[in-house]
Amino acid sequence: MIKKFIRKILGVKEDEPARDPTEPDVLGPQEHGIDPRLLSQNAVRLTQTLQDAGFKAFVVGGAVRDLLLGVKPKDFDIATDATPEQVKRLFRRAFIIGRRFQIVHVMFGQELLEVTTFRGAGATNAPKDEHGRVLRDNSFGPQHEDAMRRDFTINAMYYDPATQSVLDYHGGIADIRDKILRIIGVPEERYREDPVRMLRVVRFAAKLQFQIEPDTRAPIATMAELIHNVPAARVFDEMLKLLMSGHALACLKELRNSGLHHGLLPLLDVVLEQPIGMKFVTLALASTDARINAGKTVSPGFLFASLLWHETLQKWDQYKAGGESSIPALHLAADDVLEDQTEKLALQRRIGSDMRDIWAMQPRFERRTGKAPYKLLEHPRFRAGYDFMLLRCASGELEAGVGEWWTAFYEGEANDRERLITTPITAPAAPAKAKRPPRRAPRNRADIPEVDQGPSGASAEFRSGAKLSDE
Ligand code: ATP
Ligand code: MG
Repeated sequence: MIKKFIRKILGVKEDEPARDPTEPDVLGPQEHGIDPRLLSQNAVRLTQTLQDAGFKAFVVGGAVRDLLLGVKPKDFDIATDATPEQVKRLFRRAFIIGRRFQIVHVMFGQELLEVTTFRGAGATNAPKDEHGRVLRDNSFGPQHEDAMRRDFTINAMYYDPATQSVLDYHGGIADIRDKILRIIGVPEERYREDPVRMLRVVRFAAKLQFQIEPDTRAPIATMAELIHNVPAARVFDEMLKLLMSGHALACLKELRNSGLHHGLLPLLDVVLEQPIGMKFVTLALASTDARINAGKTVSPGFLFASLLWHETLQKWDQYKAGGESSIPALHLAADDVLEDQTEKLALQRRIGSDMRDIWAMQPRFERRTGKAPYKLLEHPRFRAGYDFMLLRCASGELEAGVGEWWTAFYEGEANDRERLITTPITAPAAPAKAKRPPRRAPRNRADIPEVDQGPSGASAEFRSGAKLSDE
């Protein structure tokens, strides 16, 4: 009975021998097979300096997991028994950051290494909110407690570059080999202490293509609600990591399967259920994943502009139906969506302003005569607006000919551009717009491809939009 209880506390399966969580398995280079060339030389120097001063120092967490998977880690975290003050004294460019839990940022040229002092297992006495979420937990402690406080077995290993040994406290090596994502300890307790761990389950399972161990998965469906207690800024950070993981599409599917998608991105669930919205979001995420996997950069502004576009479109229509003219209506819609999201999602101001730029540029792509296309090309965020417009074409929301015209214009030489501007644009037989729900009247004249949009109507509205979006 007591043994069974201890197994449960330690998250050990029935058929496995219980392990002593204070004693790690120590694996040498032959056993773990880490290629030392994947290591950052600065991480090696940093651990060496700490060790020379008499401290313990290891590469820890995601970097060890990636090294074991043969992947070059994108950053290196270091764990040590030196206090933040002791670390700071050893390096010229070291900065203590954080108030609740101090960590040290050590800079080597452009590379930033994060050094954390081993955390103690103080969670039981730590102050919590009424749902059991740990509010503060600042105690330092021995290495095995630090390992116990980490989230997954595969994220709780330590690598010592000097001896090239891996310290494995929770069977992480076996789980890496079997491609299993397993939370450390009792899953319900770990999610209650920090509900963000549920999002991390989804992210790592999708990113690493690991199976979620059944006990790790089981409580998520019923505990998903607890995410709503977490400060919005933290959820946003984790969502951003999820969306930028290179596996965003798989992550969102998994979020839905786990019942975690509600309220994360307000209305994402609604968006995902609309046929055109779904296609748009799917295309946007697939292109984000492709860029990340090709080593290209992705702007969070573009990503969130995509995720919330259909929300904006709906509001845009509502304002227009209420008698507002097109461009001011778009700006009002953007204001509403951004205001709502800034509050719920803790969207940073800079991201919000990128989103607004991308949205505000959209009607301008429908004006393809005179000087307007040249002016639009000069917009500092033209490329993002253009990519966004292409997604709208690919999803069937916008007539494909608009995208083709702009690609020819953007990639063309001066004479090609001039020819495009002066060649009349013929209306297609069956506009893609028909796929959108029927409206009272044409939404605005810019929706209907036409030869010359003249100085009145949509183009007059357009100019006010151009002004707003050029600000
Ligand atoms: P990535 O490669 O995506 O950065 P990572 O594992 O390094 O993955 P981080 O968010 O950088 O993830 O966290 C670093 C380490 O800190 C993790 O590997 C884990 O050991 C620990 N950790 C992070 N967040 C939590 C959490 N919410 N609960 C427990 N441990 C955590
Ligand atoms: Mg990391």
